[in-house]
Amino acid sequence: MLAAAAGLSALQPARRPATLVVTGGIVITQNARREVLKPGAVAIDGADIVDVDTPEVIAARYSARETIDARGQIVMPGLINTHTHAPMVMYRGLADDLALMEWLQKYIFPAEAKTVSPEFVRTGTRLAALEMIESGTTTFADMYYFEEDIARATRDAGLRGVLGETIIQFPVADAKTPAEGLARAETFIKAFRNDSLIVPAVAPHSMYALDRDSLAASAALARKYDVPLIIHLAETEDEVKISREQHNATPAAYLESFGFWGPRTLAAHGVWVTDEDIHLLKRRQVGVSHNPESNMKLASGAAPVMKYLAAGVPLGLGTDGAASNNGLDMFGAMRQAAFLAKLATRDPTAVPAQAAVDMATIGGATALAMDSAIGSLERAKRADLIAVSMSAARQTPMYDAVSHLVYVTRGDDVRTTIVNGRVLMKDRQLRTLDRGTVIAAANKLSAKVLEAVR
Ligand SMILES: [Zn+2]
Repeated sequence: MLAAAAGLSALQPARRPATLVVTGGIVITQNARREVLKPGAVAIDGADIVDVDTPEVIAARYSARETIDARGQIVMPGLINTHTHAPMVMYRGLADDLALMEWLQKYIFPAEAKTVSPEFVRTGTRLAALEMIESGTTTFADMYYFEEDIARATRDAGLRGVLGETIIQFPVADAKTPAEGLARAETFIKAFRNDSLIVPAVAPHSMYALDRDSLAASAALARKYDVPLIIHLAETEDEVKISREQHNATPAAYLESFGFWGPRTLAAHGVWVTDEDIHLLKRRQVGVSHNPESNMKLASGAAPVMKYLAAGVPLGLGTDGAASNNGLDMFGAMRQAAFLAKLATRDPTAVPAQAAVDMATIGGATALAMDSAIGSLERAKRADLIAVSMSAARQTPMYDAVSHLVYVTRGDDVRTTIVNGRVLMKDRQLRTLDRGTVIAAANKLSAKVLEAVR
């Protein structure tokens, strides 16, 4: 008897412990081979993915403390929003259907001057985090003010953030001068550079909203601490006009002239770029964030997405701030990225569904120079993943999971959101934020915003 039992246990080695297993869904790995497991399972231990395989293999290898049944759902890497201004959810729908300058000068700048404060950004970030968790975003890249308060609210919500303290020429709520902003950014970097969820960054606003010295100093600060450098680039035709008049160069070439670009830089928008600019960005390993919805709403233009992809520029997807979108749903951004590219090039094969999913996952991770940690479901990466329901009428029938993610799925279809191995939402039940409290606080604060623009 004893010998037989010993023989049996030798054949079946003890199962390894795992903190969490997500099993039974269609697993879209987004690995290099774009492997899809039908069905599959993901084993997580602590913050890391330890295995991705079939449900049977994972069940045989691991004994999980918590198991999430994802049958009928798609399990995929968490979405990466490469460009937003999280607290601007507080200005959602405040003023629409205006030209960029009128919108900024009559509404957004006055509202910001009178309302932005540490408390404002905390309330706004909690609301943005709620929206992101509920719509499957697990990492976002941000540019705003009081970024240390945004960082604390982000960490409390359990999201991953690449958070850039904004540097801008004119006086703003958290800094009277660019030098003050840079000092703030340095303090912020020192406080958060070893955080497991927060990647502090420097975010000079744009080439037109800063002088050359401040742009160069921003880049130097980012290099000193090896943190990301984030900037708006060539968003509108006007920006290119200003750059050509003042510097006799495109915005990208002007920034290149004093060594701004480097491997951890992210350029948001990149709508009005020349072929030379695209090659320059590729040469400098700059990531680009494509924001189709914001670009359409403000009538900025259509970024040359197919050219970026052909040149091998790392391309991510962003929503931009909710004041110009008006939401943070990355499923909408994927769909609009596909539609806009087709319309702009008059080529229905432009940005197929797989390319849109790539931009929202591994492409965004690469653009942020974080592809060794996030962007795909692979062993040894961080456990950032979502499970998405596929049972709605509009998702029936399903012949192709990737097609459905881009063309019929909405953020509301996300059932479960996991970041760094921690379950932030399971079956639409939030674990880190109290929905009612977050929404009530935002509604209360909105009275102040309305007062500011009256
Ligand atoms: Zn922006």
